[in-house]
Amino acid sequence: MTDTRNFFTDCIMTWDRVKNSRAMPWKGEKDPYRIWLSEIILQQTRVEQGWPYYERFIAAYPTVTHLAAATDEEVFRLWQGLGYYARCKNMLAAARTIAGTHKGRFPQTYEGIAALKGVGAYTAAAIASFAFNLPHAVLDGNVYRVLARYFGIDTPTDTTAGKKLFTQLAGEVLHLRQPGIYNQAIMDFGAVVCKPQQPLCQGCPLAARCQAFQQGLTDLVPVKSKKLVIRKRYFNYLLLRKKGLLFIRKRTEKDIWENLHEFVLIETPAPAADEIVLQSPLFQRLMGRHAYKITAPAVEIKQQLTHQTIHARFLQLSVPAAFNMPEGYLQVTEEQLKNYAFPKIIVDYLQR
Ligand code: SF4
Repeated sequence: MTDTRNFFTDCIMTWDRVKNSRAMPWKGEKDPYRIWLSEIILQQTRVEQGWPYYERFIAAYPTVTHLAAATDEEVFRLWQGLGYYARCKNMLAAARTIAGTHKGRFPQTYEGIAALKGVGAYTAAAIASFAFNLPHAVLDGNVYRVLARYFGIDTPTDTTAGKKLFTQLAGEVLHLRQPGIYNQAIMDFGAVVCKPQQPLCQGCPLAARCQAFQQGLTDLVPVKSKKLVIRKRYFNYLLLRKKGLLFIRKRTEKDIWENLHEFVLIETPAPAADEIVLQSPLFQRLMGRHAYKITAPAVEIKQQLTHQTIHARFLQLSVPAAFNMPEGYLQVTEEQLKNYAFPKIIVDYLQR
């Protein structure tokens, strides 16, 4: 077994040295702040989409102290369009912890890094190994796949038992002298050679000892126990316009897009026509006895998130000068909208 593991590690390192031409903009980066920022931005985001954001963040906040001193609104504006806004909120909290508790110095131990808000086991191992050459193995989708196939493991990766088993195995095959290089290499190997579909088994240096390849199981591992359930949501946005001013509010609920702004929202359990939305108890309560007028036909936009499909419908209405919204709403001009961070679906609508 030790042989099989050593063979695995040696093959990954040799493949990296001789064959790996995958260019990644952060390769070789040693500054923990920059590594952390790139890892947070690239969580669940494609490199091509996330990288321009990374560059804008580094230009605006060259050090963690600069980021910590920025206002929430500024940072959320810069993040706008990246999605998964909890990442942005946690990133700011972590930056402020580093600037305050750690006096601006990035933690240099795995435990110190892992204690930062929004930093999970994968990100902590990536920063610890890339920046400080600490022997901690990364475990992301690519690594799970390569390990599951090579060692022929059919324990589901999304179970407690699976996580424990793969964590232990990932640590056992880690290259202890060059953990940073090895971690990047195995992720690249999973992305380039041992791909989810049609892995390049012919010519793969691991093929001779790869259990999945030898047994014709590459399509069956890794195994997941749960299927992703996607929830459909119907957001009816009302743009209430009072003498050129629009009403917006900050989302404060524990839900998607927390801390971003939006127009008046009436969520319905199914697609709803104008009349249904306008007769909803929430809208009736808001309007009271005030008259209103639809000023433009509704516009529909759909956005796919990982676990939810958002079907948004935007309807413009004019309301009288005497109308007022409850506390929590702001009145802004169209020009002022650019000072607030909005979910991508609203930005798309405004850009139309
Ligand atoms: S032989 Fe195929 S399945 Fe096995 S590690 Fe190589 S690419 Fe992956």
